[in-house]
Amino acid sequence: MESFSGKGVCGAIAIGKVSLFRRRKTEISRQPIGDTAQELGRFADAKAAASEQLSALYDKTLAAVGEDEAQIFQMHQIMLEDDDYCERIAELISTEQVSAEYAVSAAGEEFAGIFAAMDDAYMQARAADVRDISNRLIACLSGAERETLTGVEKRIIVADDLAPSETASLDKSCVLGFVTAFGAPNSHTAILARNMNLPAVIGAGAAFQAAVRDGDLLIADGHTGKLILNPDAETEQTYRSMQQADIRRVQLLLELKGKPNRTKSGREIRIFANIGGPDGVDAALANDAGGIGLFRSEFLYLEQDDYPTEEQQFAAYKSVLERMGGRQVIIRTLDIGADKQIGYFGLDREENPALGLRAVRICLTRPELFRTQLRALYRASAYGQLGIMFPMITSVSEVEQCLAICEQTKQELKRDGIPFSDSVELGIMIETPAAAIISDLLAPTVDFFSIGTNDLTQYTLACDRQNPNLAAFSDPHHEAILRLIEMTVRNAHARRRWVGICGELAADTSLTDTFLRMGVDELSVSAPSVLPLREAVRSSSV
Ligand code: PEP
Ligand code: MG
Repeated sequence: MESFSGKGVCGAIAIGKVSLFRRRKTEISRQPIGDTAQELGRFADAKAAASEQLSALYDKTLAAVGEDEAQIFQMHQIMLEDDDYCERIAELISTEQVSAEYAVSAAGEEFAGIFAAMDDAYMQARAADVRDISNRLIACLSGAERETLTGVEKRIIVADDLAPSETASLDKSCVLGFVTAFGAPNSHTAILARNMNLPAVIGAGAAFQAAVRDGDLLIADGHTGKLILNPDAETEQTYRSMQQADIRRVQLLLELKGKPNRTKSGREIRIFANIGGPDGVDAALANDAGGIGLFRSEFLYLEQDDYPTEEQQFAAYKSVLERMGGRQVIIRTLDIGADKQIGYFGLDREENPALGLRAVRICLTRPELFRTQLRALYRASAYGQLGIMFPMITSVSEVEQCLAICEQTKQELKRDGIPFSDSVELGIMIETPAAAIISDLLAPTVDFFSIGTNDLTQYTLACDRQNPNLAAFSDPHHEAILRLIEMTVRNAHARRRWVGICGELAADTSLTDTFLRMGVDELSVSAPSVLPLREAVRSSSV
């Protein structure tokens, strides 16, 4: 058993035998030709034939996958007609007296090189499209059949790279998924795989390519990009169970997508998703989350070697807000400390970091850091429906300090003529016993509460959440936790504030009835838990 990794581009798992994809290579040599007019004529014929093929591929993809994906082949037709590209081919034939095949190959490489050298990742990925068009033209010139991926037994296709048209030609009835050693996750190949819902891993690397053989058993995890070659029985079993869970989710999605989170007696609850950064939005949308209930912004800080700038943060928050298309996005301000330590913060070592300088305590002792984040957040608020929440609150005074800095930030932006929304909801996390106990005093200061049951459990039961030896003592169903949640909901509702739960307990369907009975307004869970939770709500009689 050997493990490799690439970039997973489709949230599904393939398990099966490998079929190595080998292209029939057309040898193109630089032979001088006598009749340039004849070569120009051959090129014109090949171009017409390639254009016809692309029209057919467009129709096939339109019928099988959809308009967005089929457009790739319209774009290929436009590229095929591109004046610069065609003139370069004609010029090579006329001035260098080379065959049409050679001219197409050389011009294709020149243009692919130009795209590959661009700064923008999307444009770089277009190099594969130019090569695909050139290979199509060469196949038309030489009369060779292009490789189509068909076979008898369903297999995982492994290739060095796949052209978009090769991917579109995949006969899904013979293919479990595919893995490429090279290629970019932004390529049309990857985009097509995602939309065809084929498990795929891109860029597995040369070491993987060297290790894999025809007929090997392979697990390709399109969620994580992990590849396991010739897995042992236990690993195979684990992945087969994960695969079943995926299948179940797809079924749930088909049954429940777009359906309200409404109980049999008509009670409704919002179900949102938790994310760690812009990458999480795809999964949130794919699982039909009503919004983002917790964006753990500290991951932006954890992924870097230095403080993320206001611009970097603004870009990340804006992209999430825009992609959520008007659905609410609640971004939690920086929550580091405890188990999330960042070297460049230069924090002192602490005996009990979970009880130390963490989360809002850091923000209030380093207001310049907090201001940068709040400026980025308010600037992004102009692009969607933003909520901001503060973690680890224990007192009214902390909330007042946070609100004062928010107010200053807004004044600064107003003074500088920078737009922001004036309907940003401000909330706090209820994740310390102190906050739950004084939730009656905290409620009037904010618009909403979000209960962080992970920390609420650790602090209430005095059980370090990082300590595996405490599993037997750390019972999240403990009556003390449930009473604190109930009390928080009651106190919030008495002041007409809404309450969500964003800790892991929100996804525990054995408690869904309890939360519904308490009147919790929103549950925010990891994206894969959204639909199972919707199912639990819809089958509840509460
Ligand atoms: C929580 O404490 O429940 C929570 C959602 O926050 P985190 O797990 O990020 O501490
Ligand atoms: Mg927490």
